[in-house]
Amino acid sequence: MKSRMTWFGMMIFSAIQLLSQQKTPLVITGATLIDGKGGPPLPQTVVVVEGQRIMAVDRQGKVKIPAGAKIVDATGKYLLPGLIDTHVHLEDIGLSDVGELPAAWDSTDKIKQLILINARLDLIGGITTIRDLGSTELVLQVRDEIDAGKYPGPRIMAAGMQLVKKTAGATKMKMFLDYDGPDDARAKVRKLFAERVDLIKIRLTHQRAIPSIEEVRAIVDEAHKLGLRATVHTDVPADDLVRLSIDAGADGIEHNAPLRAKDEAWLGEMARKGMTLMAGSGEFYIQRFRDASFGGSIGPAAIRLFPDEVLSALRKGADTLRDQTAQMEASGWDAEQVRTRFVRETDRARKAGVLLIFGTDAGAYLAIHGEEYKALYGETKMGSNAMEAILMATRDAAKALGKEKDLGTIEAGKLADLIIVEANPLDDVRSLHKLYRVIKGGVVYDPAELLRSYR
Ligand SMILES: [Zn+2]
Repeated sequence: MKSRMTWFGMMIFSAIQLLSQQKTPLVITGATLIDGKGGPPLPQTVVVVEGQRIMAVDRQGKVKIPAGAKIVDATGKYLLPGLIDTHVHLEDIGLSDVGELPAAWDSTDKIKQLILINARLDLIGGITTIRDLGSTELVLQVRDEIDAGKYPGPRIMAAGMQLVKKTAGATKMKMFLDYDGPDDARAKVRKLFAERVDLIKIRLTHQRAIPSIEEVRAIVDEAHKLGLRATVHTDVPADDLVRLSIDAGADGIEHNAPLRAKDEAWLGEMARKGMTLMAGSGEFYIQRFRDASFGGSIGPAAIRLFPDEVLSALRKGADTLRDQTAQMEASGWDAEQVRTRFVRETDRARKAGVLLIFGTDAGAYLAIHGEEYKALYGETKMGSNAMEAILMATRDAAKALGKEKDLGTIEAGKLADLIIVEANPLDDVRSLHKLYRVIKGGVVYDPAELLRSYR
């Protein structure tokens, strides 16, 4: 019988959190360090954490271990920065575009229950920070509750509702906020800011009216005035939408349209402007290519946490995804040809200096929260090596979020968001799934315990 975490369970959880946030220093000894800066791994290290932050990082024997410290012996294991997924939808479980939940799940209570499962799955999967790019205010509420220690979950940066150009006859979507004209566009950015979003998401698609350059500029400009970044969803391929995003001064583009842009010089332009690109190549690989995880398999943690009727909807979704791919193949889609193109285009973008960041669109197309290691493996098939894939999900993702002072690498002064894995992810990036401990803000989580303690 699976139900929500009990009140009693929640109190125990908060108590454990409080205890571990006390001033007892935490020391991780013996791990091989992959610090998220791209250099060679450093064997036999010591990392000292006090409160939420890293105090010291060095070779064993070179750092004084504080008296009374809590020791995590990570000898023979690998220590990395906590992973960052820069494109998720926490309100969705993996069914968007491939299926639907039974109608009984369309209530605020039920949706919140699923959001909390997703957040727990993220932490179990070593994802310590997520950027949510489209949701209702429920995700903002959960963000604050996780920050307050009420539930286990990753750090959340949330865009709230996506800004879309008002389009006559288009269906009303609860996650979209319409604007019409530059003044209205600015007003809508201020409305989202007042709701305490962390960034702005602009949706450009040929399925709706395309806004003018003045409208998109107004959104970006107003967001920047308020200290928020603005990133753009573009369809694939869509050179006009990529051009509009670059001209409007957006901070990033989601999905791989820029990889495929006919004008290669645009990539150089994106690099000069410091724009980021979440290509999602790895997730696409997992969904559409005949490999170990073809068609979206469902991992053991999700099977353990999701209620049965949610799981059966997910399984149906996986069938739909496989059928879609079979149809693509039947109509001449050639996986190896597509893969070769991705490898070439990823290389081209990287050489142009574009900051490529990791994102899975978790919540859509059978991309299940906490199973990001699969997409990282996918990245290694689509033009990145294991180290590049790791950097996309650590240092470079933190930069894209504007959080490079706090997150993304293992250095003194940064927040202690760390993962300890059992095998070397540089040999096989899927080892990122063999998690021994997940640490967020100095709080140590045992993934097996996070799974067990859910009632
Ligand atoms: Zn998305």
